[in-house]
Amino acid sequence: MNIEGIVSAVRKALGNPEKPVLLHAPAFNGNEWKYVKECIDTGWVSSAGSYVTRFEQDLARFTGAKHAVVTVNGTAALHIALKLAGVQAGDEVLMPSLTFIATANATSYCGAIPHFCDVEVRTLGMDPGKLADYLKDIAVSRDEGVYNRLTQRRIAAVVPMHTFGHPVDLPSLLRLCQQYGIPLVEDAAESLGSYYDGTHTGRFGRLAILSFNGNKTLTTGGGGAIITDDAELGARAKHITTTAKLPHAWEFVHDEVGYNYRMPNINAALGCAQLEQLPAFLQRKRELATRYQEALAGMEGVSVFREPVNCRSNYWLNVLLLDQADLQMRDALLQGLNAAGLQSRPVWRPMHALSMYAACPRMDLSQTQCLASRIVNVPSSAFL
Ligand SMILES: *Cc1c(COP(=O)(O)O)cnc(C)c1O
Repeated sequence: MNIEGIVSAVRKALGNPEKPVLLHAPAFNGNEWKYVKECIDTGWVSSAGSYVTRFEQDLARFTGAKHAVVTVNGTAALHIALKLAGVQAGDEVLMPSLTFIATANATSYCGAIPHFCDVEVRTLGMDPGKLADYLKDIAVSRDEGVYNRLTQRRIAAVVPMHTFGHPVDLPSLLRLCQQYGIPLVEDAAESLGSYYDGTHTGRFGRLAILSFNGNKTLTTGGGGAIITDDAELGARAKHITTTAKLPHAWEFVHDEVGYNYRMPNINAALGCAQLEQLPAFLQRKRELATRYQEALAGMEGVSVFREPVNCRSNYWLNVLLLDQADLQMRDALLQGLNAAGLQSRPVWRPMHALSMYAACPRMDLSQTQCLASRIVNVPSSAFL
């Protein structure tokens, strides 16, 4: 592998920049300032104001979901989505080991236990074929649900994640979930603007979540959303993310233990302005992905990851995929790219390799292990 050649190809795809380039930085070129200023001018910066409702409506329209509830961040959204899917203390939640920490942490917040699944190289997400074989082996159906016969714990949800914006094989996972009667909850934090067969990611599960963190395709500073087509779940999500307060002109009455997870109006204002530009962001991110593909075509030992078949990806973070699982080579490439001012990162350390999740149940994770030393993310901001 010719590290220098790859670094110069990445530089070329980025138009040979003179200044350092960040992995992913936000672009604020629309109505952000106007809408945020309006919040400040009117005093509606916090838990009331019209932008929250507007952002929720705009998100529902963009994704095609019937209901959207915006939250302080994506992790909080996932916590509530899991709770609403019925995840309880002592349950297990099936998820990829190759994910950002939020997927496992939100499960822990429910008192539940992450159960790690392998991924496939085709999508970088959960492998439905391998999961089907695994469930055949470990799952037993009882009146109260599906149980893991090895741990005697209930399997309460399947939570795939759309890695770097690339949709997982949703139809196969959905079929499997329906077969076993396990709810599907999508961690679509990275995939706003990504579609499987024309349907927005997050529309296959009973519930899904999005993230608007500073490094995501669209940002509200910090923020997240729960999306669902189920009116009752949508209403429940709104209620428990807003302290479970009963509407009343002056009284403070709450009817259950709720959460203060509501997105402030000032962040929603930013979100409304960003969402207006999302189609343009997606267009530019696609063009950048094509430039990477062209610049690195024919390079030995490495390829640029492309969206899976039947999918349209938002290309949140572009992936250079090394042919070989070679940690030393990966680190040499990371070293070369970062030294050239091109901020690049490896994939997250897999969840099962972190101390607090090392004892969690898991299937064979050979593809996860392999991919963990093959992936390098390169600069992917929408304005590049
Ligand atoms: C960004 C992200 C989240 C949510 O993160 P927040 O920073 O809490 O918004 C959840 N899951 C995945 C896979 C993510 O990448």
